[in-house]
Amino acid sequence: MPKTYTLPPLPYAYNALEPYISQQIMTLHHDKHHNAYVTGANAALDKLEKARAGTLQIDIKGTLRDLSFNVGGHKLHSIFWTNMAAAGKGGGGAPTGKLADKITADFGSVDKFKAQFSDAAKAVEGSGWALLLYDHEIDSLVLTQVEKQNFMHLPELPILLSIDVWEHAYYLQYLNDRAKYVEAWWNVVNWEDVGKRLEKAIK
Ligand code: MN
Repeated sequence: MPKTYTLPPLPYAYNALEPYISQQIMTLHHDKHHNAYVTGANAALDKLEKARAGTLQIDIKGTLRDLSFNVGGHKLHSIFWTNMAAAGKGGGGAPTGKLADKITADFGSVDKFKAQFSDAAKAVEGSGWALLLYDHEIDSLVLTQVEKQNFMHLPELPILLSIDVWEHAYYLQYLNDRAKYVEAWWNVVNWEDVGKRLEKAIK
């Protein structure tokens, strides 16, 4: 049997991000969508194992695409959950310390960073993500978009902050108003988690 991925529990209650992200969205998003990526990733690993054993014929290209999509979804959601916290209880406010200094140095100001990150999130074509990464080579924070959840981001650059802009992340509450969701989302950003990820990335 191949090694398997498991669905991590949310680090807070399903209703913890209200009123910005509803309990219904969080429940479906975590228990159904994220869980489906975990199941899909494990199914792809299992197919590859069976193909090696000679008990299954597979389309290797399609199977690896499945694996990328589902592992990508699993990893991105695992970061996304921890990038958020209840408003006023670790969520929202402003970054502090080294993270604030780094954002200011690389983007001009925290407000300029938030504006450009929001622009990136709002402008994702179809389903996808906006990410903040750190590039050790140029000692700089870098923005990118991910289409769907196949990893199109720059290899080796660790993810510090992520926002899911698939419709399943906001439609039940914000309908088609992605911009409103993105603006509300800043109220639940866990800057401490982002700061910890930056420290780890810089080491
Ligand atoms: Mn999602």
